[in-house]
Amino acid sequence: MKKLKQAFALLCFVFIGIQCQSQTTSSTTLKKMKNSDSAKINKTNEEWKKILTNEVYYIARMKGTERPWTSKYENFYDKGTYACAACGNHLFQSDTKFNSGCGWPSFFEPITKSSIIYTPDNSHGMKRTEVQCGKCNAHLGHLFEDGPPPTGLRYCINGVILDFTKAQQ
Ligand SMILES: [Zn+2]
Repeated sequence: MKKLKQAFALLCFVFIGIQCQSQTTSSTTLKKMKNSDSAKINKTNEEWKKILTNEVYYIARMKGTERPWTSKYENFYDKGTYACAACGNHLFQSDTKFNSGCGWPSFFEPITKSSIIYTPDNSHGMKRTEVQCGKCNAHLGHLFEDGPPPTGLRYCINGVILDFTKAQQ
């Protein structure tokens, strides 16, 4: 009987040990994910609604479009970096911005390949490519193939979803 008790105690001990170990592993993994640049942000629309302004929420989560010629970045050519207004992910550099005349801020190239996600968009009877933030999936705008060299691409982006940081001189 005593032996059985001992065996049981040992089993408990081993079991608790395993549990502790698995907890440490998962919290370390979580930390790594948080520090990594490519870590995705997955929030529900309810959660986004609490942290975003109505304007940003409408573009980012409802895939809205701001009225053309209304963005403060439409005719704006300061040197710096444009980030996602929902999550801070860096999206475009000012030296890839150009005057497309389309009424929305336009760029010919994203900062890195992974900073943007591309999705076919067949809404409104048009075949377009939607561009979304690579980190939080916020709707940014659309991609067209009538941009200037060297890429020939035009990233037509809602200014509301852009946060500009001026370059340090
Ligand atoms: Zn984002």
